[in-house]
Amino acid sequence: MGRSLTNTMINLGIQGACDEAMYQLGLDIEEMENNEEDAGLGNGGLGRLAACFLDSMATLGLAAYGYGIRYEYGIFAQKIQNGEQIEKPDDWLRYGNPWEKARPEYMIPVHFYGRVIDTPEGKKWVDTQLVYAMPYDNPVPGYGNNVVNTLRLWSAKSPIEFNLKFFNDGDYIQAVLDRNLAENISRVLYPNDNFFEGKELRLKQEYFMCAATLQDIIRRYKSSKFGCREAVRKSMDHFPDKVAIQLNDTHPSLAIPELMRILLDVEGLPWEKAWDITVRACAYTNHTVLPEALERWPVSLLEFILPRHMQIIYHINFLHLENVKQKFPDDIDRMRRMSLIEESPEKKVNMAHLSIVGSHAVNGVAQIHSDILKTEVFKDFYELAPEKFQNKTNGITPRRWLMLCNPGLSDVISEKIGEDWVVHLEQLHQLKQWAKDPAFQRAVMKVKQENKLKLAQILEHDYGVEINPASMFDIQVKRIHEYKRQLLNCLHVITMYNRIKKNPNAKFVPRTVMIGGKAAPGYHIAKKIIKLICAVGAVVNNDPVVGGRLKLIFLENYRVTLAEKIMPAADLSQQISTAGTEASGTGNMKFMLNGALTIGTMDGANVEMAEEMGAENMFIFGMRVDEVEELKRKGYNAYSYYDSNIELKQCIDEIQNGFFSPSNPDEFKDIADVLLKYDRFYLLADYDDYIKCQEKVNTAYADQTKWAEMSIHNIASSGKFSSDRTIAEYAREIWGVEPSWQRLPSPHVSKE
Ligand SMILES: *Cc1c(COP(=O)(O)O)cnc(C)c1O
Repeated sequence: MGRSLTNTMINLGIQGACDEAMYQLGLDIEEMENNEEDAGLGNGGLGRLAACFLDSMATLGLAAYGYGIRYEYGIFAQKIQNGEQIEKPDDWLRYGNPWEKARPEYMIPVHFYGRVIDTPEGKKWVDTQLVYAMPYDNPVPGYGNNVVNTLRLWSAKSPIEFNLKFFNDGDYIQAVLDRNLAENISRVLYPNDNFFEGKELRLKQEYFMCAATLQDIIRRYKSSKFGCREAVRKSMDHFPDKVAIQLNDTHPSLAIPELMRILLDVEGLPWEKAWDITVRACAYTNHTVLPEALERWPVSLLEFILPRHMQIIYHINFLHLENVKQKFPDDIDRMRRMSLIEESPEKKVNMAHLSIVGSHAVNGVAQIHSDILKTEVFKDFYELAPEKFQNKTNGITPRRWLMLCNPGLSDVISEKIGEDWVVHLEQLHQLKQWAKDPAFQRAVMKVKQENKLKLAQILEHDYGVEINPASMFDIQVKRIHEYKRQLLNCLHVITMYNRIKKNPNAKFVPRTVMIGGKAAPGYHIAKKIIKLICAVGAVVNNDPVVGGRLKLIFLENYRVTLAEKIMPAADLSQQISTAGTEASGTGNMKFMLNGALTIGTMDGANVEMAEEMGAENMFIFGMRVDEVEELKRKGYNAYSYYDSNIELKQCIDEIQNGFFSPSNPDEFKDIADVLLKYDRFYLLADYDDYIKCQEKVNTAYADQTKWAEMSIHNIASSGKFSSDRTIAEYAREIWGVEPSWQRLPSPHVSKE
């Protein structure tokens, strides 16, 4: 979520008044804003997407709740010490959280472990361990419409009688200490992005959230007028007409067997009716096709922690496979591929398969990604139920990602086209008529220059590196991952460095390259990549021959608050994942909306960005998805690229032979090994085209008038990427509700 203060003032239309009041009191509002900790309750794009969706749902007047876990420790704080990442716990609640309100009246019991028995009334889950889920409500204000929705976060609370046996044994002290065991469930966020780690505590977190949330939803459904108080009181018949549950990836996929369990064992419905209600209520958003990210929980672990759910999953699978058999008779291999249970070597539940079968809608997050789901990853499921599959291209909220973070650009835009763009972002297209207008170009470039100066001051203060504010600010910020190819960016920097050294007097377009992002603490190569970036920076930044022409800076502790400072100051946005690996990306959209040009592959939402702005306004390079597939089939040989490109060979040799790590020449051997022997993301295959494309970027940047024109074209073409548009599509095409852009009379939202 990041910070809430400025966002709340903006959406309530009181920012101007608050600024003024603080000023009159002789206080600095920015200083106050800096006292708020980021709520860092997610890992990267997926969590930030949910935050943008909350803003848009409130702004479109939808009666929607966000649900999550109130982690006591959010995503770790990243420190760079001696050029490497150190993790510090994110103790964000230390001084309290003024935005939250505990709601003990809605506390909910959640059960774990135990066993299932047969009774005359049906199955019963008994001898369980009990933990309570305490809800904390956080306000989500809509923009200028008097709507405030709720983000409800669950915190684990031990029951009084937790570990009863110790009380009875008389070991009172031990019994009190052991209450921690239950409360550990909401202690800390698992810091993996796009990677599945099958830990018991993580599974308990996922079930904890699903169980608490479903009980909350059902309680609210039953107490509402529409739930029918009298005659059909308690009837769940109309549940899917009144409730839509959108699963953000498979992390909450246990909601499907949990809803089934409640309908079967608590409500006493027959299977067919329960299943119909479940499928009509649930919808699933897929966020990745990387195999290492897909959740596959061992059956043994599920049986231990959630025995009744495992029974239900088996029965869902039995009926699902009957269904497959009916439509595709005698296709044993298809049945094996489509099973919810993977057999070898250890039995596992494929949570994506469960989510597809248990949902009435399945969507990817950009057109190219949704197409890949249909033709590759979930092809069998598409052939079984093509009507389920949809696309919902991601978006970002223009409130936080333009109005809040870039007031200078917001004002320049509003002077031309008014303020409607804040809730109707497609109106930015009107700016195209001034793309070549010298006065408008000057206004846009002046704001960019001011934003760059402001960032440069922060960086000089934080890193002690002198920054040339006339240089191109070339930025790649996102979680560190091999598929995102920060190493390819690094190879480009090394190539530029080698060129300067070889030819010190040649003309050179000055660049300040910035790379930022957290590596999962257990992701060895990702941490090595950070170390390499810092090591290359140390060489490049201190070489007097290079001077102000090239700098490489690793941006420490990338998070929402830092993103808000970076996006407005970027000239060039790097979005260079291997085609077919980045589902959508949203960082790409934040840069575009703030007037940065993009160098990128035809991957994720980059494809639709190129479509909107015209390929001539983007720097596109590299293999397309079909070319990546073909290379995979032919067999990728990194050495063929290494041997045939002298500059590439020099870069890799320097990494390998300790040029950037003289005190430990072997430091980066494993990076060179990955690039040459085990690279699943084909970096070297795209190197040559990438370098050539970067030369085109230089040429364009040298012509500032042309650059300004392209930048304005980018801004003017970014309307599609508002999360308001995304949410309107979810509302109409999945949830069956109509969004409303109704606003309050404008005096309320004006800055005065
Ligand atoms: C937007 C955002 C992301 C997602 O960036 P991608 O480039 O799409 O991976 C990750 N982290 C933070 C803090 C963000 O604001």
